[in-house]
Order: sequence, then C-alpha cells, then structure tokens
Amino acid sequence: MPFDRGRLSALLAREAEAFAAARPRSRALFERAGGSLLGGVPMPWMMLWAGGFPVFTQEASGARIVDVDGHEYVDLCLGDTGAMTGHGPPAVAEAVREQLARGITTMLPTEDSVVVAEELRRRFGLPLWQFTLSATDANRHVIRYARHITGRRKIVVHDHCYHGSVDETFAGLDASGRTVSRRGNIGPPVDPAETTWVVEFNDVEGLERALASGEVAAVLAEPALTNVGIVLPEPGYHDALRELTRRHDVLLIIDETHTLSAGPGGYTGAHGLQPDFMTMGKAIAGGIPAGAFGMTAEVSDRIDASIALEDIDVGGIGGTLAGNALSLAAMRATLTEVLTDEAFARMLPLGDRWADGVDAGIAKHSLPWTCTRLGARGEYTFTPTAPRTGAEAHAGGDFALEQLLHLYALNRGILLTPFHNMALMSPATTEADVDRHTEVFQTLLSDLV
Ligand code: PMP
Repeated sequence: MPFDRGRLSALLAREAEAFAAARPRSRALFERAGGSLLGGVPMPWMMLWAGGFPVFTQEASGARIVDVDGHEYVDLCLGDTGAMTGHGPPAVAEAVREQLARGITTMLPTEDSVVVAEELRRRFGLPLWQFTLSATDANRHVIRYARHITGRRKIVVHDHCYHGSVDETFAGLDASGRTVSRRGNIGPPVDPAETTWVVEFNDVEGLERALASGEVAAVLAEPALTNVGIVLPEPGYHDALRELTRRHDVLLIIDETHTLSAGPGGYTGAHGLQPDFMTMGKAIAGGIPAGAFGMTAEVSDRIDASIALEDIDVGGIGGTLAGNALSLAAMRATLTEVLTDEAFARMLPLGDRWADGVDAGIAKHSLPWTCTRLGARGEYTFTPTAPRTGAEAHAGGDFALEQLLHLYALNRGILLTPFHNMALMSPATTEADVDRHTEVFQTLLSDLV
C-alpha cells in the first residue's frame, strides 16, 4: 500500500468527528429512528453511509441535496442511479402533477403506456414491452418467462453480479469454481446451486460449459458489471455471449438498469447488442417507481403460445400497481424530455471530465489504482489495472479506505454512492460540480499519501 494504515485510521477518526459535530439534526433523527426503524433507517443499505449515521435529506433538486443541518452537497450518487435525471426534473414534476389530478392507478392502460413502449422500442430495438415497479421485478418476471418457454430450470449469472433482490442471482463462485450461495444471502428459498450457474465475467470457456449443459434457460447479464466496481466486457465477449446463447437455445437477458449511462439506448444501443429480453428500472421514470422489460417478437410468440388467457392473473407475472398511470406519465416525460439525446451529449463528456480528474490524482501520487469509464458513469478501483472479472474487482475493495473517501467527500460537500467509488452525471450536473470533486479527491490524496 502506498500509504500508512495508521494514517488512514487517524484521518477516518478526524473526519468522523467533524462529520458528527456538524450534523446534530441528522444525528438526533437517527437516534430517534432507532426506536421505530430497524437499524434506524428505512432500508438496510442506508446503514452503509460512512460516518456512523446517514445525513437526513431536507430537499433535493437537480444535482444538489440539502440536508436537515443545512449542508449542501453536489450529488454524484444520484440515488444510486434512480435520480440519473437529476432530482425532480421540471418536466417530470409537471407531468406527475398533472397526472395526480387525473388518477394514479386504475388497472387500465393510458395512452402514455403506448408512447413509452414506442419510445423504448425506438431506443433499444426490442419490439414489445411490459412495465413493473422496479428493475428487480422486471428481472424476476423475465426469469419466470424464460423458464416457462424453455422448460429448463437454471439461470446463468456472472460472479459478483447484482440484479436486484432476485433469488436466483444471490450465488457466486467458491475457490474451486463451484456455484454456491453468496456471502450474506439472507434466507434463500433453496440452495442457489439448484437454480443458478455462475460464470466469471469475460470467461467464454466457462460460459460455454454452462450453456452446453442443457440445463440453462437464460443468461441474465449486465453489459458491464457495475455493482462491484465497473468491469468492462473484453472485445468479443458480447459476440461470444450472443453466439453461444443462440447455439444452445438459451435466452439472453440484458439488464440495462445501470448501463443506461452509456447513452440514450444504453449499452445495447451504443454497441449493437441483440438480446432476447431486456430489463431496466431506476432512472427511467425520473425516480418515480417504475421498471420495464422488453422482448423480441419470437419470445412474445412463444409466450403467447404457452399461456392461457384465463390463467394470466395467477401465473406469477404482474403487480397490481405495475403499469400505473402515474409511473407511465413520469416515464414518458423522462424519456421524451429529460434523458434525451441532447442530455446525453452533455452528460457523456462530464463523465470523461470526472474520470480525467481522478486519473490525474492517481497519476500524481503514483497510486496502483484504476478509473473505469462507462459513459456518464465512472468508478475507481484499488487495482493497478482495470479488473477483468468480478472476483478481481472485489479483491481490489478496501472498506476502510472507501469509508474515508466517502466521508472526506461528504464533509466537503460531495455525495458519492456509498457502495464502492462510483460517480454518475445527470443532465443537471455542471463542469464546476465535477471540478469540485477533482479538487476534493486530490486534496484527500495529498492528505493520505
Ligand atoms: N439491476 C441492476 C443492474 C442493478 O444495479 C439494480 C440495483 N442496484 C437492480 C437491477 C435492481 O434495482 P431495484 O433495486 O430498483 O429493483
């Protein structure tokens, strides 16, 4: 390590003290919350924020968050992608306000659903779409469909993937390369080895072994891993994935939830992928709960041929509030007015500017770290070269160091995603916001190294 662990601990203690001293209101709310919220937070991941307690939000707008103690932050976390549009983009707020007055949920379609599906078709190339309330649900549904139409039980996922709280995906590889329940997996219904075959990202041979087994219904893959640091596909990996899945009659599900950062048509649009199913959620309705999945005409024909109309409400696909009028109005505004081609034309260079700043800091201090770019998203890992697999990226993690980086940034008005070291640009993010991060990152390195 190019720095002293004692120095890291001392800085962490100093920053934690400054953090707590400046946030009496957040701290008091957190203490009060301990009496009525599990772990003092509405959702367990919120315990992961550095500093011993999360800052409580007073308001968020554009690329800014103000906490209850009056501190303002440049938000590079953006709700871990849910707010990739920036917070409360005016077009979405307006569409939501109008729709609230016209009805929220009716279990009937609105014209917006057609407009949104047509726009998704145009952007991603898949002709037929359905809606959910989350990316997790989109993944759950397509997995069920894939099993149903192939008659096979296993799903292939990549080691260290994340696709939401989907049972089949909480599996990983052990030291001998076997599929096992993932560390931290809470209450799996069955041993994940029964439902899942895990392969390393970028491992064509491992993929081929799995697909040749005849047990696999579908591969569920992010185009690049984004939840263990960013791991980019090597040249040819997606071609091999598509060729092998076709050869073995295995369906290919591409999860674009995070890789939407690559451009208006996500990674799929930018790189010409040809999935059978596609899933997404988070940002597509500007932060209003919504998810979507698309499919080819061939998949839709297979579904139609195998499901009776009278069973359609009890088959395990759907949700009462899914496809509701409010989510669809928000999605329409997001796709047609916020996450537009013009918005991406501003966001993509900002992603590069952020990564250039990080690279400059890494180079100045000769650190064995790497910054990886994925359009409007960037991330650095503590590995000397870009990781090729989830395991390599995971091995490069350093919890204490990440806590320091996050806390140091928080104390200086910057919010980074609490898991690893990721930053995301929104249409509301400015060059000055990015430069502020660069300055803070470089000051921290001078302080630490
Ligand atoms: N897919 C990917 C790639 C994700 O990163 C996530 C969440 N981080 C999900 C799906 C699930 O999203 P949600 O929790 O909103 O359902």
